[in-house]
Amino acid sequence: MTWHLKNWRRQRILKHASIPEIIWQDVWTRLPFLHGLTQLEIIQLRQWTAIFLHDKKINGAQGLIITEEMGVMIAAQACLLILKLDLDYYHDWLEIIVYPGKFILDHEYTDEHGIVHTVHMIASGESWAAGPVILSWEDVTDTTNKQGYNVVIHEFAHKLDMLNGAANGFPPLHSNMDARAWTAIFSQAFEVFCKQVDKGDTLAIDPYAATSPAEFFAVLSEAFFVKPVEIKHCFPDVYQQLVAFYRQDPAARWPTSTKRR
Ligand SMILES: [Zn+2]
Repeated sequence: MTWHLKNWRRQRILKHASIPEIIWQDVWTRLPFLHGLTQLEIIQLRQWTAIFLHDKKINGAQGLIITEEMGVMIAAQACLLILKLDLDYYHDWLEIIVYPGKFILDHEYTDEHGIVHTVHMIASGESWAAGPVILSWEDVTDTTNKQGYNVVIHEFAHKLDMLNGAANGFPPLHSNMDARAWTAIFSQAFEVFCKQVDKGDTLAIDPYAATSPAEFFAVLSEAFFVKPVEIKHCFPDVYQQLVAFYRQDPAARWPTSTKRR
């Protein structure tokens, strides 16, 4: 789709799909890490959110009814990641499935040696390549965790990572970014972090990040938006790579102000 056609389509959607003020205000209050955005950024975020809700299907599982407010709560956080990118980063999938709480992951995969593994675990979120994002609503509402836990940002970071193949902590970088620098900086930080986990050190982020480079990127993306000042201090080089990738500098807009909308 050409830029003009895409823009025309988006303007058309925005004419008919606006987010009620009361709902936007409520979601805004619940997500303090948005409060440092400028007025222009807030307008852009609200527009991305409205188009996202128009284009994606959010379905409840196990009888969960998805209210408009729940949809905005998920969409606004998903759109924070692509605020300075484009909604096209979410182009290759359609559905978000929301469970009331944690859910059972039950599937098989084949590793690089051809060995089939069966996964059976309790999860709060999952992202499928070119498929749905699955979330636990109970975890979506848990946005005040000290380790920067945020399941929506985590799963949508995986979505960005999977735009160029399997999730591996290497999303499609911009042309002005250095792929070798990204790999070197993330690999070194991952190694250091895994050692900290092994030693039982006090950690700045969720130890789940030590699971794999893909989880390291997703967990750091959560913390990058939710507790950026600490991440900038603990992982300065990684932080700068994330600034270049997301084209945002959340630490510079911290501490959050109390302005509305
Ligand atoms: Zn993950």
